[in-house]
Amino acid sequence: MPAEANELVDVCIVGAGMAGLVVAAETAAAGLRTIVVEASDRVGGMLAPVMIGGDAGVGAAGLTVDAGAESFATRTTGVTDLIDRWQLPVTVTAPNPAGAWLVAGGDSGIRRAPLPRRSVLGIPADPRAADILALALPRAERVLPVPAEEPSLYDLVSTRLGDDLASAVVDTVCRGVFSRSARDLKLSVVHPQLWQRFVQSGSLTDAVAELAAGPRPGSAVAGIVGGMWRLPVELAARARAAGAIIMLDTPVHRVHGAGAGGDRAGDEALNVDAGSFAIRARTVVVATGRDQALRLLGEHSDGDGTPVELAIALVRSPGLDVHPVGTGALIADAAPIDAKALTHANAKWGWIEQQLEPHHHVVRLSARDGLAGTFDEASVAMTIGAVTGVSLAAEDVRELHVRRWDASSSSSSMPVVAADSRVRLAGATVAGTGLASVIPHAREVADTLIHALATPPLASAAS
Ligand SMILES: Cc1cc2nc3c(=O)[nH]c(=O)nc-3n(C[C@H](O)[C@H](O)[C@H](O)COP(=O)(O)OP(=O)(O)OC[C@H]3O[C@@H](n4cnc5c(N)ncnc54)[C@H](O)[C@@H]3O)c2cc1C
Repeated sequence: MPAEANELVDVCIVGAGMAGLVVAAETAAAGLRTIVVEASDRVGGMLAPVMIGGDAGVGAAGLTVDAGAESFATRTTGVTDLIDRWQLPVTVTAPNPAGAWLVAGGDSGIRRAPLPRRSVLGIPADPRAADILALALPRAERVLPVPAEEPSLYDLVSTRLGDDLASAVVDTVCRGVFSRSARDLKLSVVHPQLWQRFVQSGSLTDAVAELAAGPRPGSAVAGIVGGMWRLPVELAARARAAGAIIMLDTPVHRVHGAGAGGDRAGDEALNVDAGSFAIRARTVVVATGRDQALRLLGEHSDGDGTPVELAIALVRSPGLDVHPVGTGALIADAAPIDAKALTHANAKWGWIEQQLEPHHHVVRLSARDGLAGTFDEASVAMTIGAVTGVSLAAEDVRELHVRRWDASSSSSSMPVVAADSRVRLAGATVAGTGLASVIPHAREVADTLIHALATPPLASAAS
């Protein structure tokens, strides 16, 4: 433990994911004594690298790709503002505009179709664009009133645009992106902009048309050359340079007030209990994810986070050279396939394609919710075959990495609230899933702290 940790710090941040690091960089740069305490041996949380190992199919140096989040939504400027603000040495890149496909199942077997280019959460800007999915959409959505009370996203879409679109497309997109059914989500939470425009215009498809009117199809997301995992690594370097201390391999067990923790009477510090020692802090930012946040605050954790199992495979298959499902596919619940999403990573990102030898591909599969331990070479080959229509043998899977993520969702019906005003929450738990929400929210948390701690002067609060 660094010597400084024995002293009272201004801000102790629990969790060095993107939320924690954004807060740390800002508070340290504002002159606040800042410590970040991270349970694992690296920064980044759900932004993480995986090395595909210098074997046949990849150059001798190997290829590092994302094992967690691999893109960010451009519906806010949160990520690019962060890169500009800290002059992070990373290059933003657009995905292949070919776009993703939808794989649906039914009595007539597996159906594959491109998702409408101009769509948000699977809701098309033009109802006729959904014809390609062989869905009949009502065309008179504009005459329906805006509901007085917001229903679930599923019910909203189903009432206005039909149950087929809600179940086969929107629910599939939500399960793939948020690990939740559209029945458990509200549009105002997962896409506040779209909800606002819908309320203003009275039409979902018109609201999507406004938002999807960008200059380039496929520009709803962007990535980082070399992988999204580089973002936290570079930001952590900036935070350290600004004076923040980042402690790795240090799980925090409890955050509590001085009274409850047996600290000396009259001390206004909070205790951040990391097992063998405690950090005393004027304020604490919990940026851990939902379940951990509840535990740290002494609340009962309802285990609401949905684990997501991901397979990252290097495969050799000339059949995949034509990118049979564009940049990837979302897979409807009704399809007899054990995955909910497939990303054809080198079809999506040019920087990955450039590093692969001919006929080699990097494919990511997300297991269906609740399914774990199902990925091995044989099952991965079979699943890629079922999704893309290109048959593969187990030997074609040259390398396989499996990662498990406990992805808590902001959409939970049970919000996490800190009773003590000196404890703030940051990250997907309170901001909503995804970097486009997490980063601007963390910046707001930092601004609030900087403002609050600026008076009284820091010197008078030090012990
Ligand atoms: C597979 C996957 C794909 C995704 N794809 C995308 C995408 O394409 N685009 C997008 O925008 N978002 C995506 N997301 C979501 C996005 O990654 C998250 O919303 C975001 O990274 C959350 O950041 P965070 O800082 O809130 O939490 P996290 O990244 O979860 O960081 C929390 C940190 O807290 C640490 N921690 C937890 N408990 C403790 C403790 N007790 N003591 C100390 N430290 C602790 C953890 O080790 C972790 O480092 C994806 C997520 C996953 C899992």
